[in-house]
Amino acid sequence: MKDSVLVVNSGSSSVKYQLVDPVTGVAIASGLVERIGEPDGRITHHHDGVDRERMGPIGDHGDGLRLAFEMFAEDGTDLTTVGIAAVGHRVVHGGEVFYEPTVITPDVLAEIRRLSSLAPLHNPANVLGIESAMAVLPNVPHVAVFDTAFFHTLPAKARTYAIDAEVAKAHDVRRYGFHGTSHQYVSGRVAEFLGRDIGELNQIVLHLGNGASASAIAGGRAVDTSMGLTPLEGLVMGTRSGDIDPGLVMHLRRSAGLDVDAIDDLLNRRSGLKGLCGVNDFRELRRLIDDGDADAALAYDVYIHRLRKYIGAYLLSLGGVDVITFTAGVGENSAPVRADALAGLERLGIEIDADRNTARSREARVISTDASAVTVLVVPTNEELAIAQQALRAGAPTV
Ligand code: ADP
Repeated sequence: MKDSVLVVNSGSSSVKYQLVDPVTGVAIASGLVERIGEPDGRITHHHDGVDRERMGPIGDHGDGLRLAFEMFAEDGTDLTTVGIAAVGHRVVHGGEVFYEPTVITPDVLAEIRRLSSLAPLHNPANVLGIESAMAVLPNVPHVAVFDTAFFHTLPAKARTYAIDAEVAKAHDVRRYGFHGTSHQYVSGRVAEFLGRDIGELNQIVLHLGNGASASAIAGGRAVDTSMGLTPLEGLVMGTRSGDIDPGLVMHLRRSAGLDVDAIDDLLNRRSGLKGLCGVNDFRELRRLIDDGDADAALAYDVYIHRLRKYIGAYLLSLGGVDVITFTAGVGENSAPVRADALAGLERLGIEIDADRNTARSREARVISTDASAVTVLVVPTNEELAIAQQALRAGAPTV
């Protein structure tokens, strides 16, 4: 347990945590505190194959973490004395400033808070989680790992919006990209799995979860990605619209009388698959389609159409691709999505093997045919492990 890393991922009313052995990659224990600040709070803690749950009001993020510590204590682990090497915090927005895992000092925390204007839904929650964790574990290095960091290298042509340059500069407007920890981890695993030098590979990574993003990676460096200033741009997601005509915002303001907060809510929480057919989980979507629901069928078609547009765009911007990889909840589990995303592309050297694609496995695997010029993979993402490893390197470099 000594030298393990506690990974904390705080949302506005939730905290996900995992105690990770960064060397073996084993998740020693993990849990989720939900509905913080509401009367029906809940913590679910997983250790040694057993889930335990407690219900009841959880006042704030600090109370949530203290409850998690109690659950660890019941497993026989006192997190305050066990000798944790670092605490790794997932922080959504690092702006222009943070593109390395960063040991959190009061100045760093202040800057993360300042960046809330770019990520109002995420950074304030991350700050709350950091403050609470620092209060309960004051003598351990706390390290922020930024979701935007991997995309710091985006070339200017890919990160720049074609708007008034002075306005953009004054308001930190550029494409930042998100899910970077996952895209970086998965592209590294791809090279490892194939036994290839990452420097030689042109890759497309498709992170398809509830949030979804695509990235183009040349020689281990991100050269394009589908999310932008915020995680709203790009692919169709569970509840987010992805790309829209920006004119839609003005139209809704003028014609429907919606204010900015209502449009924000509409595009982030009531759009995507959910907006089109009422459900955002792919398993439910599949059931609706099988039952003949026309809205669900259209939602699926729109999702796949957008995904294929991005794959096509990245094939061109990379000038050819060696590997396409599916990851995250949908990418790892939905064989139909993988098949439909790449159907009919034999002329481009992309050919999925139906049996390999439908075989169930939790391991990294090839799903293209042996004849396919482009290798298509499924590689499970592991953001917690990636955060743990980066936090360890930044926070306890002598370990
Ligand atoms: P996030 O981290 O963005 O919340 P995940 O990567 O955990 O999301 O993905 C969650 C999504 O994965 C679910 O909403 C569901 O649509 C999809 N998913 C999970 N398991 C399966 C499955 N067995 N088949 C199809 N889709 C699945």
